[in-house]
Amino acid sequence: MTQVSSVQQITARAQAHIDLSALQHNLQRVKQIAPDSRVMAVIKSNAYGHGTLQVARALSAVDAFGVALLDEGIALRGIGFSQEIVLLSGFVTKEELVAAAHYELSVVVHNTHQIDVLLDTELEQSVNVWFKIDTGMHRLGFAPEMVEDTLKKLAICKHIKHPIRFMTHLANADDQNNSTTNEQLALFDKTLDGIKGEQSIANSGGVLGWPTSHRDWVRPGIMLYGVSPFNNQTGIDNDLKPAMTLSARLIAVSQHKKGDKVGYGSTWECPEDMSVGVVGIGYGDGYPRHAPTDTPVLVNGKRVSLVGRVSMDMICVDLRSQPDAKPGDKVVLWGEGLPVDEIADKAGTIGYELLCGVTTRVNKTYSE
Ligand SMILES: *Cc1c(COP(=O)(O)O)cnc(C)c1O
Repeated sequence: MTQVSSVQQITARAQAHIDLSALQHNLQRVKQIAPDSRVMAVIKSNAYGHGTLQVARALSAVDAFGVALLDEGIALRGIGFSQEIVLLSGFVTKEELVAAAHYELSVVVHNTHQIDVLLDTELEQSVNVWFKIDTGMHRLGFAPEMVEDTLKKLAICKHIKHPIRFMTHLANADDQNNSTTNEQLALFDKTLDGIKGEQSIANSGGVLGWPTSHRDWVRPGIMLYGVSPFNNQTGIDNDLKPAMTLSARLIAVSQHKKGDKVGYGSTWECPEDMSVGVVGIGYGDGYPRHAPTDTPVLVNGKRVSLVGRVSMDMICVDLRSQPDAKPGDKVVLWGEGLPVDEIADKAGTIGYELLCGVTTRVNKTYSE
């Protein structure tokens, strides 16, 4: 009897291949563009779907990691990273603050509730604080008029390391024609006039598009994964390399007659006698269900078009330009040769969401 050794190698299931050297190339781009800034690599949400631990290893030359959640920070400490790790969403409860201090995780302080918790909690060691100012995004951060009084309260707090650092977040850095970014920068500078401390403003959009936002620390996320933050550009336009290539295989190729309808809802009709391929990937793998007919797909490296509705485990493609395609042939859904931005645009979303949305049944492989 033949032994079955590794299911991952024998099945045609979807694969997300992560090119770790692309991550390193993209980090070099950050350093080229913002040479005077330290880098906080943002690796929240499982490193935008790429795998936190592998990505952190590949990017271990950075000065700090940014994560959203306590668990993400603890996991990084747990495998021995000694860099600064910043909890970008801060903490809410006493217990979270105690754990952050225990694991030496820096916290973003953005709300008076947190000041109360800080003043009211005994900690085994003091924590690093990033003080967040709301300069116009109106999500997290202290209003500029509250900053002076709040800093006075923090100054007497014995559980935090001084000097504290200052940050804000840009709401529109991904749009180079949007003047509110300059307004946010001006308000940040006005609010901190005469106040000493390191500063951080720039996300990927800031790094690439707004040099005056670079300051002491930049906080790139999406560009590290090779994707442009700008809606009218792709990563390649910014000399970035895609880190993730999502692929699958053709699992069937069939001849259909003119007028035959394909997929759920019978939404697409063959315009002539033609061959249609079925690819083993669907929304159960994180391929967007809203990707319409005409969304590009690479079959054996050549562009063909998705047809009909995306199902949970399959999509169908128009193989008229690929008469020799056969089951087992490789299909690329995004990544090398097909920017995820293009698929996101077709599906009415952004590359960020597609990358984060790759599900756990997709096998991840890594290469240097
Ligand atoms: C997610 C995040 C970033 C990174 O944003 P990108 O657009 O992916 O570069 C930076 N700063 C904060 C506070 C974030 O939450």
